[in-house]
Amino acid sequence: MNYEVVVVGGGIGGLTTAALLAARGVKVCLFERQSGPGGCVANFEHLGYVFEPTAGMYSGWEPGGIFERLFAELPVGPPEVDRLSPAYVVRLPDRTEIAVPDNPDHFEDNLRLAFPECFQAASAFYRQLAEIGHSAANDSAPSSETTAAHLADCSKRFRRFIDVQLQTFIQSASDQCSLRDAALALTTPLRGLWAIRGGAQTLADALGESLKKSGGSLRLNSPVLRLAYGSDGTPIGVDLLNGERVTATRAIVSNLTVWDTYGKLFGLSRTPSAISAQLKQLRAWGAYLLFLGMDRRAASRLSSTRMLVLTDWQENQSYAPVQAQFTLAAAPAWDARAPEGKLAVTVSTFTNAEDWFAFHEDETAHEEQDQSTLASVWSRLHAAMPELGDSVEVIETATPRTFYENTRRRLGMIGRPGGYLKLAEAESQFSRTVFPNVFLVGDTICSGPGLAGVSHSALALADILTSRT
Ligand SMILES: Cc1cc2nc3c(=O)[nH]c(=O)nc-3n(C[C@H](O)[C@H](O)[C@H](O)COP(=O)(O)OP(=O)(O)OC[C@H]3O[C@@H](n4cnc5c(N)ncnc54)[C@H](O)[C@@H]3O)c2cc1C
Repeated sequence: MNYEVVVVGGGIGGLTTAALLAARGVKVCLFERQSGPGGCVANFEHLGYVFEPTAGMYSGWEPGGIFERLFAELPVGPPEVDRLSPAYVVRLPDRTEIAVPDNPDHFEDNLRLAFPECFQAASAFYRQLAEIGHSAANDSAPSSETTAAHLADCSKRFRRFIDVQLQTFIQSASDQCSLRDAALALTTPLRGLWAIRGGAQTLADALGESLKKSGGSLRLNSPVLRLAYGSDGTPIGVDLLNGERVTATRAIVSNLTVWDTYGKLFGLSRTPSAISAQLKQLRAWGAYLLFLGMDRRAASRLSSTRMLVLTDWQENQSYAPVQAQFTLAAAPAWDARAPEGKLAVTVSTFTNAEDWFAFHEDETAHEEQDQSTLASVWSRLHAAMPELGDSVEVIETATPRTFYENTRRRLGMIGRPGGYLKLAEAESQFSRTVFPNVFLVGDTICSGPGLAGVSHSALALADILTSRT
């Protein structure tokens, strides 16, 4: 078959790019190896529950935001969303709770109450972020200073309040991320975060529908093996695992991680050594998730359906999220996704992805590691949130190996690679590749956080491919 554009991967990045291109009249085909679209946001269904494998906090749904812009172009309507109020609550080890509301004035009051020891410095920090946030939008903000350097006058408590949020939203603590990245991550929630009915899977489904409605092809159960090359060595399309060759006259878009795009689609022999060396240095976190069933009545005991919980101050050390934090996202009552009287809850923690792939001679070792991690997260969860009591039960867990099996992301690594200080220009650096007709889209190369960041980069790529920039 012959298409203008072939997209490899049906995560939000690939789906958005393909849906936009098809809506603009481009002949496009998307290949996804799984039986359904969504990648990292594909729901997990078990025992009558439908679990969202994310923290359930989505930005960009405000009027004029990225999703309004996208759906204005598409022949399908957007999913139903509901603004989270507050966006989330951060709980510190001393049980202080800080609600991050959608109203900046209330936020000042919350900071004053929670951090009397350094309120002036904390407030000045957020004002600085707001200023940087504006210039970041114009891409003119400095990206060379760490955020930690700007927190010197703040208390340790406030610095950890910042770390737990940065780690959650951009997978880097304050000593590892630039002030520009921090500005994007920390000011975005102040403009609002939303829940999506049915989870972000609904967004993936809508994008898939849109692609088909515009005349594009969505081919599920279709793993791509590698790029196909012409006799002069330039990529001309893709070879599927089933032996089929599909050509692309205009472009090939990879929604795989930056590692897998080069390691698998290009092949190591066609990856320049400088890029290989850089990719070897890059690491991203793994995620360990608990999918819980919760008694519906217990929801009223939670301060918010979205909780970012710091469980350890981590004195005298750099911030290490594995034992220090978790995120709890409880399905709202209007979208319980659970058997009668229950709610679906996802608890997310960070883990070292590589640990789940090393030293495993058989499945038993993986199960043992899963069990011991579950026991540790379970006790931290109850110690930090005693209000849960016996209202929750474990339905299932997800490890980096689960993420690998579901998405084939290298080592099941999620989100953005660390070391972003060096890679602040990652998007412009990596969305284009060594081949002028091959592009990347997805969360390992986009500069903004979460699905909104991925969607922004997909729109930018669609504009490049249809010559709108
Ligand atoms: C634990 C966790 C919590 C999160 N919470 C939030 C949140 O609250 N809010 C938010 O906005 N974002 C959140 N995110 C981030 C967001 O979910 C991801 O960044 C985003 O879904 C990634 O999309 P993607 O398109 O980059 O890639 P992916 O979702 O990884 O998609 C890549 C696709 O390519 C497919 N594929 C791989 N290899 C092949 C092949 N050879 N052939 C064909 N197809 C292939 C995969 O199956 C997959 O479908 C969270 C992420 C995680 C892991």
